[in-house]
Amino acid sequence: MEKKTIDDIINKAGEYLKNPKNIQLIRDAYEVAKVKHEGQYRKSHDPYIQHPLEVAYMLAELRVAPTTIMAGLLHDVLEDTETSREELIEKFGIDVVNIVDGVTKIGQLKYMTKEKALARTHQKILLAMAKDIRVVLVKIVDRVHNMRTLQYQTPDKQIKIAKETMDLYAPLAHRLGMYRMKAELEDISFKYLEPLEYNRIRKLIKSQKAVREEDIGRMQNRIEEVLKNNNIKNYEITGRLKNIYSVCKKMRQKDLEFDQIYDLMALRILVLTIEDCYHVLGLIHGEWAPLPLRFKDYIATPKPNLYQSLHTTVVGLNGKIYEIQIRTYEMDEIAEYGIAAHWAYKEENKAYSPEKEQLEIAAKLRWYKELLTYAEIGESEDSDPLDNIRDDIFSANVYVFTPKGDVLDFPNGSTPLDFAYRIHTEVGNRTVGAIVNGKIVPLTYKLKTGDVVEIKTSNNFNGPSESWLKIVKTNHAKHKIISVLNKRRREFLISKGKEDFERVCKSENYPLLKLDDKMIASLFSKYGINNSEDLYVEIGKGTISAKGSAHRIYGKTEKFDEEALVKQYSEEPETPAAKKTANEWGIIVEGVDRAQIKLAACCYPVLGDDIVGYVSKSHGIVVHRYECHNIRNAEKERFIDVIWDSEFDKKPYESLIYILSFDRKNIVAEFINMLNSFNLTIKSISSAKNRDGDLLTKIKLTIPHVDVLNNAIINVHKISDVYSIERVIR
Ligand code: MN
Repeated sequence: MEKKTIDDIINKAGEYLKNPKNIQLIRDAYEVAKVKHEGQYRKSHDPYIQHPLEVAYMLAELRVAPTTIMAGLLHDVLEDTETSREELIEKFGIDVVNIVDGVTKIGQLKYMTKEKALARTHQKILLAMAKDIRVVLVKIVDRVHNMRTLQYQTPDKQIKIAKETMDLYAPLAHRLGMYRMKAELEDISFKYLEPLEYNRIRKLIKSQKAVREEDIGRMQNRIEEVLKNNNIKNYEITGRLKNIYSVCKKMRQKDLEFDQIYDLMALRILVLTIEDCYHVLGLIHGEWAPLPLRFKDYIATPKPNLYQSLHTTVVGLNGKIYEIQIRTYEMDEIAEYGIAAHWAYKEENKAYSPEKEQLEIAAKLRWYKELLTYAEIGESEDSDPLDNIRDDIFSANVYVFTPKGDVLDFPNGSTPLDFAYRIHTEVGNRTVGAIVNGKIVPLTYKLKTGDVVEIKTSNNFNGPSESWLKIVKTNHAKHKIISVLNKRRREFLISKGKEDFERVCKSENYPLLKLDDKMIASLFSKYGINNSEDLYVEIGKGTISAKGSAHRIYGKTEKFDEEALVKQYSEEPETPAAKKTANEWGIIVEGVDRAQIKLAACCYPVLGDDIVGYVSKSHGIVVHRYECHNIRNAEKERFIDVIWDSEFDKKPYESLIYILSFDRKNIVAEFINMLNSFNLTIKSISSAKNRDGDLLTKIKLTIPHVDVLNNAIINVHKISDVYSIERVIR
């Protein structure tokens, strides 16, 4: 491959950058990079500057903004040379340096996993750390050049880098719709990872090339005739090659032999307008019979990475099968270069800003939204939906490592305590300290993506305290802490109540007997007391008097005084039943009687969840889960405190969970069996393969309490090949 020079880059960029200022900036960046890398060499013995030149050239091909090309030229300067951030900022501005910084930071991310399941998480980490899609672009292009020069690395490094590329960068390029980069990354990785298979398929493709090319040529001529006869203008027909790895993938996925893959013969027809696309499709189908179920209209419904095209497969000349793609020139550009083609830098756009550019991309890419699980809802109609993206983009989660290299993800603002409870409840309960990246940190430390977290535990420790509730962020940790606190509180109340009761018995000269639970239940069940422990708890709390209870138990009915017995109830004029205005879902609105309450349809609150009420304009109070992003930007005045009625009779609450897993036999059946073993009902279930070939299972279920749900989720997670489970917030 020809080695690129700065003039090649200037020429390429000059195709769309007409402002001489921009060209000069790129030259300046080159001059600085050249001086900084002076005396450094690549393993190929090329001067180091050749690498940033190749990277910058590919970026110019993608028609990115001048700042991104500059960042491409400078991308290794911070890491590999004695250059300070400050110096670069002064010379090229903060925007360029931020991109360089991001690229450097991602480079330091250790790819430690051996499991495919975690590769996805790493993709997310990479995105989270990048914080800027331009960083991801530079990084992908950087990787393309490093792969092109992989032969100069040692064999074990070749394997390591190829694996990382296959698991991480090729799927990222795919997600960004960069078909060419993806194909190149895959094929080179494949060559190093499975050299025998790579060569076998490459040879098979080559051996049939002549025959197939002849077939394609003949078919191409026939199609041209048809188009000419029907007055289609300005079309272009090309034969298409599948990359080696995608052929191999198809053979493996569908368990086919090479001869059985028929879409090796593919033709692409480019036309000017969308109308022409459908017109041409009609002509093709009129001439050759289409195979059933093979027609796909990606023009009407584009793929998440914005790919648009019509696909059909027909029985063509001599009964041979051809896959035919029909699309406009513009669609073709996007198909080849991905979203980069979509937001190709336009100089005349005066209002250009990097933030805006990012938001435009985010708004266009459906998968970004999926990543953010961002949804618009009626109630926040006043807030700018883009604000939500701005807040959420790449920062919805933090990803941290266990000392063993496993990755766990947490909501932003989580602390080492959340981490500890995720590892195990007992680890959480015994936590005395945390070490992050080798340094001792306070338990209030906010976890950051990339942190390696270690928890210090002790057996001689009192365990959770009230204050921990303010430190933790996840509901999981909160519930575990509350349950310990409740248990401890109950133990305390039992011993206090028992003491009070026995003191009274002594002073009243009653014998100290072991209380019989049945007898207690028969005497006190109307107060919700079913055994002696319950009785002690109520005495301990002071809701029932020790003296009154003793009289009642020892039969001094003449001394028994209902009002004295039930102190608290009689002190308050309202009966508990009247005081509580819990609605049908068991929600009490502080200070409001008979409020109209609805559970939000976006985040599915379940009894026991942290919740908040939102006074909507038209449907009364809508109760959301605390972490629901849809209310994040709502007006503060509209929030109202709501709590669950602790004595509420449990009702079935709806919840929606998504399970992402490897697509293997029987896995959905295992989900169903596991879920059925909990106290819940599956209302609907659907499963589909996503674009990465993973299985996404959506399950709607009803459960009586969030504890049940959390328990179920933890256990489904234990099923092998499950990558992640989320409670959906739409
Ligand atoms: Mn590099």
